[in-house]
Amino acid sequence: MPRKMTRAKAHTLYARLADKAPAPKTELYYKDPFTLVVAVALSAQATDEGVNKATKDLFAIADSPQKMAALGEKKLGDMIKTIGLWRNKAKNVIALSQMLIDDFGGEVPQDREALEKLPGVGRKTANVVMNVAFGEPTIAVDTHIFRVSNRTGLAPGKNPLEVELGLEKITPPEFMQHAHHWLILHGRYVCKARRPECSACGIVDLCGFKEKVFDDDKPKKPAKPKRKMASTPKLRAGKSFAKRNAAKRKKAS
Ligand code: SF4
Repeated sequence: MPRKMTRAKAHTLYARLADKAPAPKTELYYKDPFTLVVAVALSAQATDEGVNKATKDLFAIADSPQKMAALGEKKLGDMIKTIGLWRNKAKNVIALSQMLIDDFGGEVPQDREALEKLPGVGRKTANVVMNVAFGEPTIAVDTHIFRVSNRTGLAPGKNPLEVELGLEKITPPEFMQHAHHWLILHGRYVCKARRPECSACGIVDLCGFKEKVFDDDKPKKPAKPKRKMASTPKLRAGKSFAKRNAAKRKKAS
């Protein structure tokens, strides 16, 4: 794990990410807080692109808790079949729609604790909704943010909650509102999981990752096998031995 980044470096890091994307937005398609809750709940272990494909048609006919509950689990399932874990997600979306109707007057609550009571909504989803729909300075730690925070040393942690609390401490207040999006975008497009693009990274000088990968990195040449090295003196010895024998034979004749 890299050493924890200093506050001064963290400030520079955010300033550079902000410079690159001054007004970052979620890539998920949504119309209002309700459709955002649904889109984020569907996006677990799925790509935003895949979710958007399904929700475009879905939100055209069911963009409120009442319409979603009326649609029912079976029809909803049919519309989101292209998304991973769709059966469970359909069940949760219908249940959360019903809970919003029964317990929250059909409105999405602007409160993390209340949001977390909704079926299928965990801390990460609640933080996204708080940040994107209600403009709260929350940071939802997904796989990209977790990776970037640990690699760079910005907020190292063993689990998402540790990283989230670390980010809350080190992120300067003026960057809190968009920190979530800047870190996601950086992780998604530059600091990729398999092969980070360190050559194209705007924060490379601030990053504490020890295994940075650059464009001109070449695989190391394999060391010469020891056996080959050992064979050279043998050949030389053989040659001089033959020469000595030839000299002896000449002398004897
Ligand atoms: S230098 Fe490499 S590892 Fe560090 S943040 Fe940039 S892309 Fe990620």
